[in-house]
Amino acid sequence: MLLRHTTDNIIDRKALTVNPAKTCQPVGAMYAALGIRGCLPHSHGSQGCCAYHRSALTRHYKDPIMATSSSFTEGASVFGGQANLLESIQNIFAMYDPEIIAVHTTCLSEVIGDDMKQIINKAKTEGKIPAGKTVIHTNTPSFKGSHVTGFSNMTTGMVQYFSENTGDRENRVNIIPGFVEPSDMAEIKRIAAEMGVQIVMFPDTSGVVNSPMDGKFHMYPKGGATSAEIKSSGDSSFTIALGSLASTQAARALDSKCKVPFEVLNLPIGLRATDAFVDLLRKKGGVQVPEAIMTERGQLLDVMTDMHQYFYMKKAALMGDPDQLLSIVEFLTDLDMKISCVVTGTPAGTKFEKSIKEMAGGDTVVKSGATADTYYFHQLIKKDKPDIIFGNTYCKYIARDEDIPLVRICFPIYDRVGHQYFPLTGYKGGLRLMEKILNELLDRQDRDAAEESFELVM
Ligand code: SF4
Repeated sequence: MLLRHTTDNIIDRKALTVNPAKTCQPVGAMYAALGIRGCLPHSHGSQGCCAYHRSALTRHYKDPIMATSSSFTEGASVFGGQANLLESIQNIFAMYDPEIIAVHTTCLSEVIGDDMKQIINKAKTEGKIPAGKTVIHTNTPSFKGSHVTGFSNMTTGMVQYFSENTGDRENRVNIIPGFVEPSDMAEIKRIAAEMGVQIVMFPDTSGVVNSPMDGKFHMYPKGGATSAEIKSSGDSSFTIALGSLASTQAARALDSKCKVPFEVLNLPIGLRATDAFVDLLRKKGGVQVPEAIMTERGQLLDVMTDMHQYFYMKKAALMGDPDQLLSIVEFLTDLDMKISCVVTGTPAGTKFEKSIKEMAGGDTVVKSGATADTYYFHQLIKKDKPDIIFGNTYCKYIARDEDIPLVRICFPIYDRVGHQYFPLTGYKGGLRLMEKILNELLDRQDRDAAEESFELVM
């Protein structure tokens, strides 16, 4: 109801965010940390932050997300969080016995200015970290960036703590998958295996946040990249970083630390972006693209041509995470859809805005950063009346108010399942995305069809 008061009179705002189109950095850092086997994410701040981050991930994945907190109270706010973190580390190893604790900061510990490296070293010298166990960290000040930045920072922390160049270069490709679903990570691994390319992927949340129900509780599910695998990334011959915002920083850190060259690609969502990924994997792995992958590509192309008339000139409005948006916009333009507007709360820079406009055309409204919020997105939708909306769960309010179909993408998706198990990446993922779009468009067509044009067969 409240959203009905949104007007289409857009006033340029510099200082006010209304319903942000992003979540905070530690959510992404916590998610990335879950992609290390035997790792317990730890939130260095108050319990409220940790509870929110856990709950956001639990609601999105429908799996209990484990994480601990330094439990700041007034004392820590005044005297700093060192004592809390030292005690936490000792308690966590004693009670939960993880292999690794991955600490991320919060707004409060960042404002205090806790020196995380120094505290972790102190824990080491005081014998609070048992032999063979590791504590890593990253800084995630949430007054800037977003969950995507947090994911990027924690992945970079993995490189800084684990990756090593032993001098034995291996014919192996590192893949940094970006902030995608566990299903996407599994699909990327499947494509590499199908092609016969040896890879190390980190982080890898497949088998962790979408683990099967077997009647028992597993504090540390079987999935995730092992610390040995991440360590070995320093000896790989090449790194493919998928998604510029989420993966470039870690790939660059790996290059400067271990001299592993890298290339950044768009997330392999849709035909062209998947082609680019498969082609680079082929070149760097020194393999041929197998028949099975070519068949998947052909099937995607087949449905694209068969159903083209339903996509043609349909107008789309998109809100979500920048790496996903770039690839999805490219795919939608390949389907001959029109792009009305693209909005992301993650500060994505002018390069992002330029890339979208190059793909979608100069008339497309593109905005990123704090004032590119859900309210602004709604105003743009009111103005331009798209045929279909792409966005996270929060867009359902706009979709209902404006009576426009919604395809759920990006984070968070609280009110549907499927994203955990069915990928959007790869050729098969492209098929799934197309199916989702077609279902929405055709359901709408059926709903609005006059009696005489209500067709049984398309
Ligand atoms: S924005 Fe800052 S204070 Fe709020 S939940 Fe995130 S880390 Fe905590």
